[in-house]
Amino acid sequence: MENIIELKNLRKVYRIGEEKVIALDDVSLSIKKGEFCCLLGTSGSGKSTMLNLMAGLEKPTKGTIRIKGQAIEKMSEKKLAKFRQEHLGFVFQSYNLLPMLTALENVSMPLTFKGLSKSVRDKKARDMLKAVGLETHIKHKPSQMSGGQQQRVGIARAFVAMPEIVFADEPTGNLDSRTTKEVMGLITEMARENNQTLVIVTHDLEIAGYADRIVHILDGNIEKIDIINARRVSNEEADNIISGADAVPAGV
Ligand code: ADP
Ligand code: MG
Repeated sequence: MENIIELKNLRKVYRIGEEKVIALDDVSLSIKKGEFCCLLGTSGSGKSTMLNLMAGLEKPTKGTIRIKGQAIEKMSEKKLAKFRQEHLGFVFQSYNLLPMLTALENVSMPLTFKGLSKSVRDKKARDMLKAVGLETHIKHKPSQMSGGQQQRVGIARAFVAMPEIVFADEPTGNLDSRTTKEVMGLITEMARENNQTLVIVTHDLEIAGYADRIVHILDGNIEKIDIINARRVSNEEADNIISGADAVPAGV
């Protein structure tokens, strides 16, 4: 089994003046290629910190983050930026679209690093906007779209360059329940179609229900792990489930 993400003894301590906040205490976790892994926990439990470390947006205080076998915490800023452009996509709670750019321009942005001509970039961005149901809104600016539409642009942007891993931090946090279902359906479908790995942060158990595995985060540690779809996840426990009930000792 191929582990595309491997976290070993990750720790993140923030210091503000004299105060010390242990955002992540000591976290180890492996995520398999193609897995949909959800980090579930209450506000302040350390979910975003964990995701930001995995996505190379922050450096750990201690521990290692391997993505595709490469220790990203050791990379130079320049190498890390390139690595992120090539392999990672990100969906934010607040969409983070560039306000002056149209939907098409926002979505084609990640392709500018790929050495493609403008017409090819525009075609890929247009196809992606079509896939999220926004073919009629390609010239709209973020302020001319609803929250749900803006997040669909955000999803199109995260997936357009076909990254192997997509990270999403509370992607439906600002959306109503109907739009939440649409957006979650879109993200899950897109990732499944291309066997992309998906790591989503949420405090919402209903969102977590879409995942192959739910990692419960409490006070900067992994409290417990629920396996929903054993075949798709990286876990010794899952291996036991797959090899049959006989392999699991009675009472476990
Ligand atoms: P969650 O995403 O689960 O709500 P976070 O990872 O954002 O939690 O935060 C975990 C803890 O770390 C919280 O106590 C938070 O206040 C603290 N924290 C997060 N980011 C910073 C920062 N940049 N500076 C100081 N403290 C931070
Ligand atoms: Mg958070």
